Amino acid sequence: MPELPEVETVKSALVAKLKDAVFLKVTIRNPFLRQPVPCHLQELICGATLVEFKRIAKYIVLNLNNGLSLILHLGMSGTIRLSDTQESIREHDHLIFETSKGFMIYNDPRRFGLILYTPTNSLEEHPLLKNLGLDPFDKDFNGAYLKEKLIKKTIPIKLVLLEQSIVSGLGNIYASEALYLAGIIPTKPASKLSLKECNRLVIGIKKVLQQAIEAGGSSLKDYRKPDGSLGYFQNQHCVYGKEGQPCPQCTCLLAKTGGIQKIVQGGRSTYFCKTKQR
Ligand SMILES: [Zn+2]
Repeated sequence: MPELPEVETVKSALVAKLKDAVFLKVTIRNPFLRQPVPCHLQELICGATLVEFKRIAKYIVLNLNNGLSLILHLGMSGTIRLSDTQESIREHDHLIFETSKGFMIYNDPRRFGLILYTPTNSLEEHPLLKNLGLDPFDKDFNGAYLKEKLIKKTIPIKLVLLEQSIVSGLGNIYASEALYLAGIIPTKPASKLSLKECNRLVIGIKKVLQQAIEAGGSSLKDYRKPDGSLGYFQNQHCVYGKEGQPCPQCTCLLAKTGGIQKIVQGGRSTYFCKTKQR
């Protein structure tokens, strides 16, 4: 599943390719995404120019010069292909946008993504966006903010991070990684985190996301798969997917601890080191 760094990287690629492009044609091959694609999308956006590209949590927002914004989410398996010329259609290509600067193709085997529109001036009131917590890179996202928001949360901190209502954009991978960097055990009730731990967690979240964005940005060609699709890139994780392996940043002994542990929380895998994380 694409997480915040991947979405940020896709957004950067869209800016590079489609800034000031004019929409010429929209082909909806399959409207049945997480929410149906508006059937009159073509009439709404053709002739309009793409003037601004933003990321809000894991949503990409494309602002047009006709007062509308497109809201795009990659869901579980969505990818975007950018191409100068019309390519042959592939399986799961659901939407094809032709612009004055080339083609943008939305492909999504599992169809959990979405593409909607809303007036730009009421973007923040959109049901998908209005209840989101602070962006991890918001200047107001700090330890004191986190501590205050966690006071009434008795569920494990890992699950709170996935909720999106306090801090938005963290998915399963980076929630594990940030808790690892902060030295906080993922099962700890959120309300039990001290201010010190909240400070460490905020630093861990920003660090892990920033590193991943830089990895994605510096390998703009690498993360673009040979087929030209955007959306996923390999990143070096400390704990995620590394059950039973030695923990890279502490002194725990593999023979003693069995290495990185894997548990399931809320139906999702969590990875951690029980020596480093308390
Ligand atoms: Zn360890």
